[in-house]
Amino acid sequence: MKTALITGITGQDGAYLAKFLIEKGYLVLGTSRNKNIKNLQNLQLLGIQGSTSIISLNLNNYDEIIDLLEQYCPDEIYYLAGQSSVSLSFERPLETIESCTSALINILEAIKSIRKPVKLYHASSSECFGELQGRVATEHTSFEPRSPYAIAKAASHWLIKNYRDTQELFLCNGILFNHESPLRPVNFVTKKIVSAACRIANGSKEKLNLGRLDISRDWGWAPEYVEAMWCMLQMDSPDDYIIATGKTHSLKDFVRYTFEYLTLNWEEHVEINKSLFRDTDITSNTADPSYAKKKLKWKASLYMHDVIKNMMNAEVDLLKK
Ligand code: NAP
Repeated sequence: MKTALITGITGQDGAYLAKFLIEKGYLVLGTSRNKNIKNLQNLQLLGIQGSTSIISLNLNNYDEIIDLLEQYCPDEIYYLAGQSSVSLSFERPLETIESCTSALINILEAIKSIRKPVKLYHASSSECFGELQGRVATEHTSFEPRSPYAIAKAASHWLIKNYRDTQELFLCNGILFNHESPLRPVNFVTKKIVSAACRIANGSKEKLNLGRLDISRDWGWAPEYVEAMWCMLQMDSPDDYIIATGKTHSLKDFVRYTFEYLTLNWEEHVEINKSLFRDTDITSNTADPSYAKKKLKWKASLYMHDVIKNMMNAEVDLLKK
């Protein structure tokens, strides 16, 4: 039986990845800053809380990490922990860099020190590319990060490459474009839109306040993105991969489709709030996921419309409870 260690197991991707690995027969361990009941909600929702071992860990403490790796000897580590909101990163730049980058250095140093054949997946991000200005991102596109979050992820991405080259460790960067699910926290715009639209369809008179609607993103389905993470660690040699659907849509389309799905006219329920505009908002990003398709045999099967339908159905179920 293989052992997987997931840092950030309580988050959206951590929970789906844990479920996927348990179904594959792995022993799954996960770390959280604080394993209280509220944190474990996603694992409970997926019905796997009892099938994982959750360990409280301060990723900024090197000694705690070494102890953990020596005690459990994981075959695979999935580094998903960290402050993951772009907008929050402007308010909490230090926390973002400490959790995404400094803590990763601790893990890399610990792996280097224990010298066991462990493989590591790092959650890099499409945000590293910054403004693509009409270009389609590949694994060779240069980074121009535009937020503390993107800067933290870009630094971590290069750390992975550097440790891979100099220490000959099995380390992969997954450059994931946006991926959504019912487990997204409400401070993310997709969940905010879906939740508000469902409440409005249920009789709420609220207005949905949004910032720029002309931005475009590539939105995929989180449960299938975690499969790509696993595929990377099953390859003969480590590499970096873009994971995306390859289809980009505007936020306005996301909003329109969400409301149309509930037979509502979005324009009657949405208010544009200029205080939510950010100077450094990336207007558009487009991905070429063909390398992952060729090497990992991974391809997205669900696109924005499917993602909205799935999120909506989960939200409607939630409102019925
Ligand atoms: P998430 O739901 O925010 O989960 C991240 C987890 O990290 C949280 O559950 C939390 O666990 C831990 N965490 C949060 N803030 C932290 C901090 N300041 N210090 C240490 N740990 C912290 O994120 P996700 O959507 O699952 O994404 C997983 C990873 O992929 C993240 O690194 C994210 O940046 C990256 N990523 C996500 C996307 C996407 O579209 N979802 C795209 C590209 C990259 P505890 O509270 O239990 O410690």
